[in-house]
Amino acid sequence: MRISPLIKHCWIFITDRCQLDCDYCFFRTKTRTKTLTEGQIRQLFGLLKDVRKIEFVISGGEPLLQWDLVASLIRGIGRRHPRSSILLQSNMILMTPEKIRFLRKHRVLLEPGIDGLAETTAKHRQGTSLHRYRKICENVKMAVGAGMEVFPTMTVHPHDTSAMTANFKFLASMNVSRIDVHPAFLAPWTADSARDFIERYRRLAAFSRSTSLKTKLCPCYSRPMAFGHDLVVLPSGDILPNWTFLTFPPKIRDKFFIMKLDDDHVLFHASRYRDLLGRYMDLFKKRGVSYREFSNFNAALAMRQWGRRRATGGFRHYRDICRAVKTIDRSLL
Ligand code: SF4
Repeated sequence: MRISPLIKHCWIFITDRCQLDCDYCFFRTKTRTKTLTEGQIRQLFGLLKDVRKIEFVISGGEPLLQWDLVASLIRGIGRRHPRSSILLQSNMILMTPEKIRFLRKHRVLLEPGIDGLAETTAKHRQGTSLHRYRKICENVKMAVGAGMEVFPTMTVHPHDTSAMTANFKFLASMNVSRIDVHPAFLAPWTADSARDFIERYRRLAAFSRSTSLKTKLCPCYSRPMAFGHDLVVLPSGDILPNWTFLTFPPKIRDKFFIMKLDDDHVLFHASRYRDLLGRYMDLFKKRGVSYREFSNFNAALAMRQWGRRRATGGFRHYRDICRAVKTIDRSLL
């Protein structure tokens, strides 16, 4: 069997080691010990040899804990997929001027893990001491100053919608290129907190449109997406077709593994992969499906198997937010 040549994002969760323990981290089942091997990365490149253009996302855990492997991966992508983009997600604690020089040289985009002011960031990103927070901010500014494209995803927890504007303005004051404001996935959203998020997001969009600030609200995940799916490579070598599955307990998540990378071969879970491709084909018969809707479609598949009432309620409100955000974002596109 071969993979669909229509891969949207290839997320490479290079390691599940991390210094922090964020309460909305969607990689819920980190062992904090696993790292992809060079052999598995070679197999991944073999798998992607017919795919011409992909958005690579290097993530973790914290990728900078495995810097040598990250650097070799970036060089490999540059050689084999010169038309593709590379985004590095990092909590920025271990960023240095040398790493920034390397990333800039290879035209890597940077997505730092910071949700705004210290209070909000430290509340949900356990392990973010004041010292670390200052370091993260310094490193973000250093990357911006070095001319890198830096765009944080500002994750908003349902209990912190009231701080959205202040957090956005703080991040914008660091001159980052754009900010993706994202509601925390599988968090306990209620009708009230969802309404509050939407109203504040609407105001942020108006502010972003009218201000002369360099930083803009990012509408990227509301853009229409062509038929395709993700490859989400876990440090174990298992591959999922979308990131949302990572948030579910292993007994649910594992039902959506479509492939596995070993050091010397790739194993396809063929019937499961065909079944999912068929479902995606049906989904993309609708016009204008966005990446967020594609992700929510996958989450709904997992949710059906999980069936926990509280989480299902939160997910319903989360989807209401995504629908409203799409309408607001499309007025910015
Ligand atoms: S820094 Fe990233 S990988 Fe680490 S716990 Fe937080 S969200 Fe998860």
